[in-house]
Amino acid sequence: MHLLISFITLVVSSFAFASNVQTEGYSVQRVADGIYYHQGSHEEATPENLGAIANVGFIIGEDCVAVIDSGGSFREGKLLHQAIRQQTSLPICYVINTHVHPDHILGNAAFKADHPKFVGHEKLPAALASRQQHFAKQFSQILGDAYQGVEFIDADTLISIDSPQTIDLGSRELLLTAYTTAHTDHDLTVYDVNTSTLWTGDLLFVERIPALDGSINGWINAIDTLANLDTEVVIPGHGPAFKSEDSTGWKNLLRYLSTVREEIRLIINDMGTIEEATASVATQEAEKWKLFEDYHRRNITAAFVELEWE
Ligand SMILES: [Zn+2]
Repeated sequence: MHLLISFITLVVSSFAFASNVQTEGYSVQRVADGIYYHQGSHEEATPENLGAIANVGFIIGEDCVAVIDSGGSFREGKLLHQAIRQQTSLPICYVINTHVHPDHILGNAAFKADHPKFVGHEKLPAALASRQQHFAKQFSQILGDAYQGVEFIDADTLISIDSPQTIDLGSRELLLTAYTTAHTDHDLTVYDVNTSTLWTGDLLFVERIPALDGSINGWINAIDTLANLDTEVVIPGHGPAFKSEDSTGWKNLLRYLSTVREEIRLIINDMGTIEEATASVATQEAEKWKLFEDYHRRNITAAFVELEWE
């Protein structure tokens, strides 16, 4: 219980959209008709925050509900489930995983009893198979008791790259799009046709430093596509949702990735080393992102390895 109480203190409710609904301290915010999300905190996962560091949420149709990312622990998945039940008693027919990262999928088992379809990118199963053992070891340590109940569940409905698929929640169509390698090699976005709401998964980070686990070139290309979609509201993977006329989030992400790429290319052209790159590239970005020190060097390393073979 003390975990839950300390978790309550993490709840953030500064948001320009509509109502803020609390379920036992777990807060979801309504961003459009029938669309709610919980904003993850800008922290690393801990037992106290239950791993609730990514944005997760749900969309309610006339027949059923789709969950979009299930949380960073079984406990968060349960809280999200309760938050759904505060809004509707309709069945939960889909759990959509935007990608494999633990803060987005460790809550999946909390929805197992609803017998939803688990939906992901066509490459999600391979990513899960190669990482789940490592995730289990790492996150059982990181989350402690909050890890209890976690199960890795294979997606049974897969979305092919460049072949977007529509699912229907009852007078509510969601367009699911699978991307080529960007944040990861299996990023999936969800677009609610009724309200023009785009759920980006981790193809967009706001406030928190992006984590590169795919391709810097691919991610920069994907931003070009995503930032120009006809949307009303955007829900990023991390950070607050926003109205689409505000392009700051996309611009900041593009600036960070472009700066990293340009400066690494200069070092590679001068026959410089990866150590030189991690020491000097894009250090001017430090003040602009939460958790910069935790991810920036890793991003440089990943980008360097990609760019040195161009
Ligand atoms: Zn991610």
